[in-house]
Amino acid sequence: MSDYYDTLGVSRDATSDEVKKAYRKQAVKYHPDKNPGDAEAEQKFKEISEAYEVLSDQQKREMYDRYGKEGVGAGAGFPGGAGGGFSSMEEALRTFMGAFGGGGDSLFDSFFGGGMQGGGRDHLARKGVSKKVALTVSFTEAAKGIEKELAVTNWVACGGCGGRGTKSSDGVKTCTRCRGSGQVVQSHGFFSMAMACSDCQGEGKVITDPCSECRGQQKVKKKQNVTVRIPAGIDSDMRLKLTGYGDAGEGGGPSGDLYVFVTVKPHDLFKREGDHLILDLPIGFAEAALGCKKEIPTLSGSCRVSIAEGIQHGKVLRVRNEGLPNVHGRGRGDLLVHVIIETPTKLNERQKELMKEFGDLEQQHNQPKKRSFLEKIRSFFKELSV
Ligand SMILES: [Zn+2]
Ligand SMILES: [Zn+2]
Repeated sequence: MSDYYDTLGVSRDATSDEVKKAYRKQAVKYHPDKNPGDAEAEQKFKEISEAYEVLSDQQKREMYDRYGKEGVGAGAGFPGGAGGGFSSMEEALRTFMGAFGGGGDSLFDSFFGGGMQGGGRDHLARKGVSKKVALTVSFTEAAKGIEKELAVTNWVACGGCGGRGTKSSDGVKTCTRCRGSGQVVQSHGFFSMAMACSDCQGEGKVITDPCSECRGQQKVKKKQNVTVRIPAGIDSDMRLKLTGYGDAGEGGGPSGDLYVFVTVKPHDLFKREGDHLILDLPIGFAEAALGCKKEIPTLSGSCRVSIAEGIQHGKVLRVRNEGLPNVHGRGRGDLLVHVIIETPTKLNERQKELMKEFGDLEQQHNQPKKRSFLEKIRSFFKELSV
């Protein structure tokens, strides 16, 4: 795999404008409409589109500069996350359309007769647009798994005309102006340019009796409810792919996909570390010194842990298999209990008296760390005096 900067032929400090210009120049050259059946051009077009996808996005570019292709690999397979490489022409074309399509770049549009704009000529089967939705679930929902209902608005084939766009089956006629090619050649002085035919918008066909439901668009926007099964153990920044739940494809192409980006809300009691659950357990000073038993909450209810006599602050107790289920079905994590020893505050007179008395009775071996610290200080001063 080559370097994205080399691919586009720009320097590492190229401005976003320079990146766009470089991409435009190459895209004009390698666009599949200009090189029909040329596999090499096709590969090149995919490569430059992938490079542009990353370098045109400030955040992705920074990740790429820092970590290389690995850094932008998080969204592999997602249109817009180029890490996995553009495997399909649809992805590359989508990038291309994102960069130059949708108007505003009339020069470029004219190169391709506007055929790149969404509508597409029917000889180009295109995958429908993929969608991205964000979904937030609670900590316990993530732990147990849940089904969520999402409302998405997609373009779907019009039901009124079966996606034909016309009322009758013979309502589609070849455009007379461009004779079905979708393009007309216009001369401006020295230049002659192929422009999208304005009668048929580059489709090559005109609809003579448009369907009343879709007004000839062949598709309608429809709100759909999609049930998403959130697997137990899912974590923030994971995404689920629902194949075929994006916009309907065009020219016989498949539907786009729906990507659900999950955020798991933090919990008051538990944190997580991979599949392990972390619980901070505050205990008193006397409890720590004498040892105790504690009832602690778990995902399945509760369990008892024994705190050994003389336990130290920061000690981690492990309760096996009481963590989160692995999202890929590979067992469960553990519950890690972090012991927090809380120094007593706001002591009353009686307590203070007892503490003082205790302090007076304290012996060196009660606090081995303190003892070794004092010994280290002593030898340190000895070193200084030599
Ligand atoms: Zn036409
Ligand atoms: Zn219709």
